[in-house]
Amino acid sequence: MKTTTISKLSEYVGEEVIINGWVYSIRNIGKIWFVILRDGTGLLQGVVVKGEATDHTFNMEQALNKEDSVSLRGFIKKEARSVGGYEMGVSEIKIIYPVSNEFPISPKEHGADFLMSNRHLWLRSKRQNAIMKIRHRVVKSIRDFFDNNDFILIDSPIFTSNAVEGTTNLFEVDYFERSAFLTQSGQLYQEAGATAFNKTYCFGPCFRAEKSKTRRHLTEFWMAEPEMAFVDLKENMIWAEELVAYVIKSVLQDCNKELSTLERDVEKLEKVIPPFPKITYKEAVEILNENGSSFTYGNDFGAPDETLLSAQFDKPVIIYNWPADIKAFYMKRDEIDSDLSLGMDMIAPEGFGEIVGGGQREESLDILIDRIRHHDLPLEPFKWYMDLRKYGSVPHSGFGLGLERTVAWICGTKHIRETIPFPRTMSRLEP
Ligand code: ATP
Ligand code: MG
Repeated sequence: MKTTTISKLSEYVGEEVIINGWVYSIRNIGKIWFVILRDGTGLLQGVVVKGEATDHTFNMEQALNKEDSVSLRGFIKKEARSVGGYEMGVSEIKIIYPVSNEFPISPKEHGADFLMSNRHLWLRSKRQNAIMKIRHRVVKSIRDFFDNNDFILIDSPIFTSNAVEGTTNLFEVDYFERSAFLTQSGQLYQEAGATAFNKTYCFGPCFRAEKSKTRRHLTEFWMAEPEMAFVDLKENMIWAEELVAYVIKSVLQDCNKELSTLERDVEKLEKVIPPFPKITYKEAVEILNENGSSFTYGNDFGAPDETLLSAQFDKPVIIYNWPADIKAFYMKRDEIDSDLSLGMDMIAPEGFGEIVGGGQREESLDILIDRIRHHDLPLEPFKWYMDLRKYGSVPHSGFGLGLERTVAWICGTKHIRETIPFPRTMSRLEP
């Protein structure tokens, strides 16, 4: 007999098959009872009827518990009213392993801390399943976008000797006889990549010792970072909006079921079509002030500022030309107003905050040395980085897209901790 999965049931209508999984719930309506099976690919209702199932199976109802691992054998039929659209007329249930205690997560309300402490089990829930499947699709669409556009994957190292975003927020680790830092961003290495391959990207974990306990910060998160030779700020912004639009389109196309489980308003996502609005930092400050905020020019936007800005648009908004003082040392200065740097951030709609940070990089060796000194960073670890300006420097740009913030926005989940399988924050290292 064929063993299959719930996701493939359309191929087995009218046939008897075996499906392995876990008991999701049990329901009794008198002469027959129902078992909902979860197999990781979907949910399936099994109908257990006296005479159709073996006697042993029919009498199993009291013995089954949520999350017992089981094997179901039975005939598949199409049933629009059932979860997933199919139903199994159960012939036999075999218990693989019974649960030894009651499953700790029940349909009743649990606190966030309890659920997070049981993250290894919480991942089995319908909602967490939907979020992880969307994350999976987002990752694939990011890779597809770059691969389809001639970007070469160049993995940046995770152990580094230099700080990209300054020395605060760095995790320092023992590295034989010296110190190393966990990477905050793979960007500097992508700049080496872009001069070797024209367009490159990395996509991996980044680490920041963020002491803030916000809904948007993890200490370990994933970032996709493209870097492109001969690309200026303007073209960089177009790449960023094309990437984000492609990701949204792919999820809308393939994750209908998951988005509906999450009760996501997809009409809002359907509006995410290029071109996105692009405003300067100065214009953003004016918008904030016109809308009753007392934000002062020269500061970085906080979460409430980003929320207020995003409320003015129904697409992501890109903010460019930032005060140089609040951007990183490697950001190129504006040629007319040297107080400005050619940075750009993208803010997601609906108050989901910044999802992209990037810009055009400084290509002049002298200015770069000056900037590193100005930021009080040691020159020695940047020697290789300066070589990129010594040997055939070119205008180049790139950005970093935060995976978890993007998933949070797409799923409409306010807290970033649900968007990564095992979140790491200041207060959480387990499970
Ligand atoms: P923020 O100001 O929101 O802390 P940032 O300006 O420090 O972010 P960048 O250095 O520009 O962030 O990083 C690029 C992208 O990486 C951000 O736009 C965001 O999507 C993501 N990101 C940055 N820090 C975190 C974090 N601690 N947790 C999750 N995602 C992050
Ligand atoms: Mg940023």
